[in-house]
Formats: sequence, structure tokens, C-alpha cells
Amino acid sequence: LTVPNNPIIPFIEGDGVGAEIWQSAKAIFDSAVAKAYQGQRNVVWQEVLAGEKSFNHNGSWLPDETMNAFKEYLIGIKGPLTTPVGGGIRSLNVALRQELDLYVCLRPVRWFKGVESPIKAPDKVNMTIFRENTEDIYAGIEWQQGSAEAEKFYQFISEQMGVKKVRFPKTSAFGVKPVSTEGSERLIRAAIRYALDHKLPSVTLVHKGNIMKFTEGGFKQWGYELAEREFTSQVFTMQAFERLKKQQGLDAAKEALKAAKLSGKLIVKDVICDAFLQNTLLKPEDYSVIATLNLNGDYVSDQLAAMVGGIGIAPGANINYLSGHAIFEATHGTAPDIAGEDMANPSSLILSGVMMFDYLGWFEVGQLITAAMEKLFQQGQATVDLARFMPNGNILTTSQFTQAVISHL
Ligand code: NAD
Repeated sequence: LTVPNNPIIPFIEGDGVGAEIWQSAKAIFDSAVAKAYQGQRNVVWQEVLAGEKSFNHNGSWLPDETMNAFKEYLIGIKGPLTTPVGGGIRSLNVALRQELDLYVCLRPVRWFKGVESPIKAPDKVNMTIFRENTEDIYAGIEWQQGSAEAEKFYQFISEQMGVKKVRFPKTSAFGVKPVSTEGSERLIRAAIRYALDHKLPSVTLVHKGNIMKFTEGGFKQWGYELAEREFTSQVFTMQAFERLKKQQGLDAAKEALKAAKLSGKLIVKDVICDAFLQNTLLKPEDYSVIATLNLNGDYVSDQLAAMVGGIGIAPGANINYLSGHAIFEATHGTAPDIAGEDMANPSSLILSGVMMFDYLGWFEVGQLITAAMEKLFQQGQATVDLARFMPNGNILTTSQFTQAVISHL
């Protein structure tokens, strides 16, 4: 990206705890930018509306001006939005992702020393999830049980498979799981490029290809083919390992894998999703960059976040690497149960901002903020969601935590 010294960045404050965590994050961003660049660089924040705040203001949940601002300025940042219930209004987050075709949901997962974790070796957790954001069972193609469409679909399946093989009742509801070569390839390509750029050891394709052979199995197969075709000299795939094993025996395959690792090649491997979820608890060090489909990615993201402190601290972004559009966002919801209490953890939004500054190439900002947060968590200084589990925890309000980060920059 070519970034001016004073970029305009649209932001959506968000509903519920949104206003509190945005005020916190913005104050920290501005202090860190000032510290890093002494006035040479500066973000011009531009508020755009969405969600409840927008609806109360102008009757629209997601006004065109908001969408146009994200289109024009390429990047943006947002707090959580209340999803309107009923009335045929789709999820605002889904609308933003679809409109800008933000096909990667990027979730880095790392542990901060001092934060309590349910696993034995959280220091070994360092993963980056690339979740496909536009396809899979989340495409929203479903037919209600008893509807004319569902009956027609049942008819179609019965004709295709032969009535005897259809083992579910006629009154079933149906959902469609579209998975395309193009959609899978652009996601996996982005994951491999990211791993190569950041000199990471492996990309793991997480799938359920053992059960869903053409969709999830396709994802795995296309991933291996793409890796070997487009990144020939930079990667070693476990598919190549299997080929060698068949042709020259296990020892030769093991030798080739060892040589590939020694020469710094990126290892591309795959794992079945359920095994992956278990393995990450037992041997998180085996995984680095993860590429997976939409539904798996949803489950995987939450489990991995829980391993390092939960949604209050897990950042995320939705990105289209082809157009450059990216929206950085807190991964949690509006937390209505604690809104207005000055107790929400702003870390998820702050760390999403760190991702945003890295995306802009303003690495110094992220380094300052991350180092400050590392110091605070090590001292047990945190908001209640984290501090209450820390042996030496000192509970801070959102405002106190914000001031503490700023004073540690
Ligand atoms: P939630 O994430 O808002 O809350 C789940 C639990 O986590 C609550 O106990 C809450 O207090 C706690 N929590 C969440 N964020 C926290 C933070 N920053 N600090 C401390 N504790 C925090 O999920 P929910 O209750 O299922 O959803 C509430 C609303 O948020 C719904 O309208 C939902 O649609 C929306 N939502 C929006 C997004 C988004 O905009 N990206 C994501 C999820 C949910």
C-alpha cells in the first residue's frame, strides 16, 4: 500500500461497549503514533455510522455513506454492532464483508505472559488463522422444512440418488455448502504468502475432507495443487511426502522433509478439523499459519482465542488482498450486560488496531502498543475479565487500563 503521512481512516464506534472501547483504543493509537513519528505522521479519523447508533440517528442500519467511505479509503476499523433481529435485515458484518468481498478473516492468536490460560503451555501458542469468509454453509442458502423449495430439493435428491439411498425424511430442512476452487485458492494463496513474508514454518490446511470429499476434500486438494504449482521452489508439501513415500519408501520421504526444513522451505500440511482442535490443546507448537473454510474457521477461532484469554483480547480483520480493502475489528459482540460500566476490555479493538498499523506498514506503532500491553499483563494489570483470573491480578477500569497503556508506551 502507498500510505500518505496523514491517511483518513473511517471508523465505526460500535454499539453497547463500542463507545467505551473505541475511546480507549483511539486515545492509545493517537499517543502511540505521536510517540513513534513526532508529528511527522498522523491519522485523520473519520466517524461513519452503522448499527443502532446509525438507526437512531438516520433510520438506516448501514447507510450508503458508510459503505462508500470504506470503499474510498480502503481501510477502516470498527467496534461491535448489534445485529438487528427480524425485519429481514441481514447481519451488518456479513453485509460489509459481502459488499467489499473481504474474503479473508484474519485472526492472529498469541499469548501474553501473565494472562491465565486453560492450557499447560500457552507460551507455545503462536498461530494465525486464515478463515474463508464468503462461501461454505455460511453462504446462507437454506430451505425451511416443509417449504415448497425443500420438497422440490428432496425430489431432486431422490431422483439423483435413487429413493432407497435417501435415508432422511421428506420433511427435512436443507442447507447448501458451496465451496469453489477460486474461493479456496485465493484464501490459501494469501495464507502461503503471509507465511513466506513472515518467515513462518508451516501452513496447515484444516478440513473435514474425510467426510465431505468434494467440498472440504476439494479445499485440501486444491490447496496442495496450488502450493506446488505457484510456490514450487519455496514450499514442501506433505502431499509430495506421500508421493515420495510410495515411490521411494518412508526413509527417503523423511530425508526429503528434513532437507526441506533445513533449507527453510515452508511446509504445507493438512489435518482433519476435529483432530486439529484436540492437537492445538496438546501440542500448539505444531501449528503456525492455519487456512480453513468458513464454518471450521468459526469454531477454530473461538477455541484458539479461549486458549489465550478469550474474546476480550483476540483481534481480527477482514481483508481482500486483491483490492486492498480491509476492515479491522473487535472480535467480540456488544457485551450489553456490561455496557456503560467502564469495565469492558478494550484489548481486542486495540490489537486489531495494531494489525491495522502493521497493514499500513507503520510497524513502530504496533511495537510500542504491544510492548506496553506485555508489561501491563505481566504485572497483573488488566480489566476485570482477565485480572480476576490472574494470581497477582489488579482490576482496572477501562479508563484506568487506557491510561496505564499510554503511560507505558
Ligand atoms: P458478546 O461478545 O457481546 O458477549 C459475550 C460475553 O462476553 C458477555 O458476557 C460479555 O460481557 C463478554 N464480553 C464481550 N466483550 C467483552 C469485552 N470487550 N470485555 C469484557 N467482556 C466482554 O456476545 P453476545 O452477547 O452473544 O452478543 C451481543 C450482541 O453483539 C448481539 O447483538 C450480537 O449479534 C452482537 N455481536 C456482534 C459482533 C460484531 O459486531 N462483530 C460479534 C458478535 C456478536
